[in-house]
Amino acid sequence: MVKCFIFCSGCGCNFEKKYGEIGKGFIHVHHVKQVSDMGKDNKIDPIKDVRPVYPNCHAMIHKQRVPYTVNELKDLMKKSQQVTVSFTSDGSNVMHHLSL
Ligand SMILES: [Zn+2]
Ligand SMILES: [Zn+2]
Repeated sequence: MVKCFIFCSGCGCNFEKKYGEIGKGFIHVHHVKQVSDMGKDNKIDPIKDVRPVYPNCHAMIHKQRVPYTVNELKDLMKKSQQVTVSFTSDGSNVMHHLSL
């Protein structure tokens, strides 16, 4: 049997890999084109016009009224990764703010 993993186009993670069986198929479909922008006979191209994203990423994309693009979301995530959390030997969280 061929295993087909769907990866989130925002964060690139895979819930089935992360959560096992229960994460399978747990994905949202984000429409790149806003439905309101489409005319009546405007067909959706499943490759170009929709992106598989996980609900958490999807929620972030729609944080603003005009949705972020997947690339913008990736940029936002990249920026946020400049703040990393690490654990010291006594178990307390230390936030490291890395400046460019
Ligand atoms: Zn994601
Ligand atoms: Zn969406």
